[in-house]
Amino acid sequence: MAQKGVSTVSRGRKRVFLGFSIIALFVLFMAALALLYMISKGRPQLLAWGLLILVGVVLVFLSMSILSLTGAFIWNKGIPRGIAVRAVASIFPFSLRLAKMFGIDEDIVRRSFLQVHNELAKREETHLTGQEILVLAPICLQKADCRYKISVEVSNCRRCGRCPVNGLLALQDEYGFHLAVSTGGTRARQLIKDLKPKGVVAIACERDLASGIQDTRPLKVLGVTNDRPRGPCFETEVNLAEVEEALLNLLGKQESISLPKGNMLGEGASS
Ligand code: SF4
Repeated sequence: MAQKGVSTVSRGRKRVFLGFSIIALFVLFMAALALLYMISKGRPQLLAWGLLILVGVVLVFLSMSILSLTGAFIWNKGIPRGIAVRAVASIFPFSLRLAKMFGIDEDIVRRSFLQVHNELAKREETHLTGQEILVLAPICLQKADCRYKISVEVSNCRRCGRCPVNGLLALQDEYGFHLAVSTGGTRARQLIKDLKPKGVVAIACERDLASGIQDTRPLKVLGVTNDRPRGPCFETEVNLAEVEEALLNLLGKQESISLPKGNMLGEGASS
């Protein structure tokens, strides 16, 4: 039953992204028709033709992106992941702008983008070693009153179990990946530059994940959204099972070897 619920949410999220993409396509098509009408009425020809060519190019580009993305989902094979992921990335700004225009919460589109991106990225088989993987976590996972400087060195954590860093360290013990806690997007990008991982599991809010994934292409990055029960950037949480699932995908493994099920914080995961 739980599985069924998850897949329904997943399908719903994908539809949001594809829906916005198709609306963007429709808006551009209408703009092209309006320009053609202006030209037929003898309006400033040069400007109208210039705009029409611009809208036409974007229209063709967007249509091809949506087609390749739809093809990637329907046929699964046949379209290289790189093209499909690039298509998602190119559609995303249009969908986001449209959501803004209609006053729709942009995080809904970002979440949908992440869902589509993760699904496509996971289809690419990888068999990385733990050492080739970086798990990037945001500093806001840490308890606000914790005095240990984990952004400098995660091993400074005393594993008291009050925040998800404890569970992430337990996962690191099992899989041997690099774990870094970042204080912001710039630091996260720097860590990727320095450590040169072949795969990344990034934990962050929708906004940071969406921009980070775009900036680090073609690196395989799987995004895991953090939960913010106490508001943004404050003592956030993460579903460790989702982190582990992303790790297993990068490692090319099927089975979990570590965490107690359904544990958000990973209490008791450490010895
Ligand atoms: S698990 Fe405990 S010691 Fe470690 S970062 Fe969280 S609050 Fe601090």
